[in-house]
Amino acid sequence: YTGAVPATTKQVKLEKESELRIEVANNTPLRLRLLSGTAEIFGSELAPENWLTFPPSLKFAVFSWSGATIEMDGPTETDYTADETPMVSYVNVHAVLDGRRNHAKASSSIDPDASQGPRVIVVGPTDSGKSTLSKMLLSWAAKQGWKPTYVDLDIGQGSITIPGSIAATPIEMPIDPVEGIPLEMPLVYFYGHTTPSQNVDLYKVLVKELAQVLERQMTGNTESRAGGMVINTMGWIEGVGYELLLHAIDAFNANVVLVLGQEKLFSMMRDVLKNKPNVDVVKLQKSGGVVSRNAKVRQKTRSYRIREYFYGLGNDLSPHSSIANFSDLSIFRVGGGPQAPKSALPIGADRVADPLRLAPVDINRDMLHLVLAVSYAQEPDQILSSNVAGFIYVTDIDMQRRKLTYLSPAAGELPSKYLIVGSLTWTET
Ligand code: ADP
Repeated sequence: YTGAVPATTKQVKLEKESELRIEVANNTPLRLRLLSGTAEIFGSELAPENWLTFPPSLKFAVFSWSGATIEMDGPTETDYTADETPMVSYVNVHAVLDGRRNHAKASSSIDPDASQGPRVIVVGPTDSGKSTLSKMLLSWAAKQGWKPTYVDLDIGQGSITIPGSIAATPIEMPIDPVEGIPLEMPLVYFYGHTTPSQNVDLYKVLVKELAQVLERQMTGNTESRAGGMVINTMGWIEGVGYELLLHAIDAFNANVVLVLGQEKLFSMMRDVLKNKPNVDVVKLQKSGGVVSRNAKVRQKTRSYRIREYFYGLGNDLSPHSSIANFSDLSIFRVGGGPQAPKSALPIGADRVADPLRLAPVDINRDMLHLVLAVSYAQEPDQILSSNVAGFIYVTDIDMQRRKLTYLSPAAGELPSKYLIVGSLTWTET
C-alpha cells in the first residue's frame, strides 16, 4: 500500500472584477496561492506562487481586477465565486481620497486645513463590511506610499487590539491578510466593556482623548497629516449609538462619512450634516460577500482576539506568568461604583452615579479570569486621560498570602502599578 494522499487541491479561475469568497473550515486551516494573473485580499496584493495559510473559520475574499487563477489546498466550509461586487465603487472612493491626499501634500504645511488629508469615517449596521472596507482603503493608500492612520472605535469586534478598547495605529504597508494589523505601537485606550451602553460617558471621554492625542501627533507630522485617517465604528446605529457616531465625527473632525448598506442611516447623516459644507456623506453598497455573525460567533471572536494577544496568532508567543503582592498593585474601576440608595437622597432627587468616578477596587476572588489594562498614568487622577501599555490576565488570587498571579505578553515588571478593571473576562481554552 503506497498510502496515496487524496488530492485536496483545487484550482479556481477568476474572471476580471470577480472574487472568490471563502469560509475556511472550522477545524482545518486552508492553504491558498496565486498561480497566475493578479489578485488581492481586502486591498492587499498577493505575491505570485506564494502559499498563504489561513486559520480555521476565517472569512475572506480573493478579488481580481484583471483575472487570475487561484489554487487552494484543504477543505473549506464554503467557497464560491461572485462577479457582482461593489469593488469598483470602493476603489472610486479610494481614488477621490488619493486626490485629496495629493492636494494636502502639495499645499503649504503651515496651513493646518489645507495640509490635512481626508479623515474618513465608515459607518453602518453590524455586518455591513465596515472593517473590511476600512482595511481596503488603508491598504490601497499604503500601497501608494501614504501612511494613513487607522482608528478603530469598535469595542466589540475591533481589529487593532483586544475587545473593550479603542485604538489607533499608523498603516505603513498593505495589511497582511493573515497577520492583520501590525501591532507595533498602537495608541490604545481601555474602556473595559464590550458594549458602549455600559458607560456611554466614559466611551465619549476616551474617543475625545484619542482624537486629541492624534491631532497633536499630526500637527508635527506632515506625512501622517496628508495620509489622513480611516475610522472604523461600531454597528450600533440607533438611538444612543447614532449619537455616538455623530460624537465621533465631531471629535475626529471627519470630513468624509461613508455609509454602508443602510438607506435610512445615510439619509439621517446627510440631513444632520448638511450644514457642514466640508463634510461629504457618501452612500456605498454592502458587499454580498459579507458574512453575518450571530452573538455566539461574536463572543467567540472576542475570545480569540484575547487569546491572540497573549499567545500570538499561531500560538507563537509564550506569555509570562508573574506573581504580584496585592500591595504592589493599585486597581481602579471607572464609574459603576456603589450608588446611594434612593432612600438616602432628598425627595425628588434622581439617583445618579458619576459615570466618570474613579473608584479604587479591593482585590478579591471575583477578579479571577478578568482582563485588566495597565495604564500609563503616573497618578490615579491621570487614569482617565492616559492610554494603556497593554493587558494582563488574572489566573490566580491567593487571599491568604495576598498575591495575584497574572499572564502578560512579556516578562519583566509592569510599566505601572495602576491597573484598570472593567467587565472584560476571558476563559483560557
Ligand atoms: P462589520 O465591520 O460591518 O461588522 P466586517 O467587515 O467585519 O463587518 O465583515 C463581516 C465578516 O464578513 C468578516 O468576517 C469579513 O472578513 C467577511 N467579509 C467581508 N467581505 C467579504 C467578502 N466580500 N467575501 C467574503 N467574506 C467577506
